[in-house]
Amino acid sequence: MHMNEKGLSEKEIFSYLEHVKSEDTDYYKVLSSMCTRPHKIAVEAHRMFIEANLGDLGLFAGAHRLEREVVMMLGELLHAQSVNAQSAETPSGRPGEGSIYGYLTTGGTESNIQAVRGMKNLATAGKKIVGTPNIVIPESAHFSFDKVANMMGIEVKRALLDSEFKVDIVSVKSLIDANTIGLVGIAGTTEFGQIDPIEKLSKLALDNELFLHIDAAFGGFVIPFLENPQPFDFKVPGVTSIAIDPHKMGLSTIPSGALLFRSPSFLDSLRVSTPYLTTKAQFTLTGTRSGASAAATYAVMKHLGREGYRKNVQYCMQLTEKLVKGARKLGFEPLIEPIMNVVALRVPNPDLVREQLLKRFGWNVSITRNPRSLRLVLMPHNTARDIEEFLQDLKKITAEI
Ligand SMILES: *Cc1c(COP(=O)(O)O)cnc(C)c1O
Repeated sequence: MHMNEKGLSEKEIFSYLEHVKSEDTDYYKVLSSMCTRPHKIAVEAHRMFIEANLGDLGLFAGAHRLEREVVMMLGELLHAQSVNAQSAETPSGRPGEGSIYGYLTTGGTESNIQAVRGMKNLATAGKKIVGTPNIVIPESAHFSFDKVANMMGIEVKRALLDSEFKVDIVSVKSLIDANTIGLVGIAGTTEFGQIDPIEKLSKLALDNELFLHIDAAFGGFVIPFLENPQPFDFKVPGVTSIAIDPHKMGLSTIPSGALLFRSPSFLDSLRVSTPYLTTKAQFTLTGTRSGASAAATYAVMKHLGREGYRKNVQYCMQLTEKLVKGARKLGFEPLIEPIMNVVALRVPNPDLVREQLLKRFGWNVSITRNPRSLRLVLMPHNTARDIEEFLQDLKKITAEI
């Protein structure tokens, strides 16, 4: 593909774009993704703020206001408010602007990188570390922590999982040493949809004066809307930061992630001076960043409200139950009783089943790493009819294998 000397007409461009877009999924028969079609109102808001750059806040005060409002709403959702209400900074009990600390990222990866970067900066400033600092994460952690391990100059230790695919607290404990600066817990593991024992991790973190980052990239917009939510957020005293992705179950547009901190010292530790912008400093990882994402997330959160998200989660959980019930009838058990809308199914030869599902019936499913099983994510773009059809196709394929 060359860049042509003379420009093409809009018509030519769009005819090519239409053609290329037909190769993209419209999410039909996608059971492998944690992203989904964004809500219509998010798309419209995104378009409206398409040129807004949150990397230069002074020029985009409006988009920045939306970012702060989203951070406030997310903070409230994740119980940062009650935490702040107890702190001396907000004697009124109601946080004022800026009393919830965080910003909108490009997604879970950036949030995780920045959370660990903050830990590293604070820990190395605070306590004497001889040798390489380390963090302890669950073996089930998202691959973004491979990037963290690769770029951050710290050691990433992986704790074993228990029989329910939660991180094993004894294993975490055994990995903590004098150079450990923080722990990571996952609220909604990418592969199993499991929630780590956050309260136990919190106790370990407090006892050992460690930071505790919770990766709720997926679960952040699920767990609060379940019938009996497990404590995973700032309500748990040892939790120091949380990653939550509006572009997954938050139904916002890509790229929409968020990183929230319990204390402003975290944000301060990420500060870099920005001499030629309208603001003096930046604490984000990326420089130029999308104000459109802030507008999209604001719009969909305000439009759906808690009720809308609760319905969304209920819908996905109904699909999940339907799938598990049907799979059991075929003789396939889930690895764990689903906590959220992620199912890992024990089927014979999962890699071959996956391949056949795609090749013969067009289903996109994925595979868990250890043990290998069929991984299915039930998202708002899926329907009850899809699930019935999927089960029939799964039956055909597994009968032949
Ligand atoms: C999706 C996911 C991530 C990565 O998020 P991106 O938005 O793809 O960067 C990190 N952690 C968990 C638990 C996830 O589910």
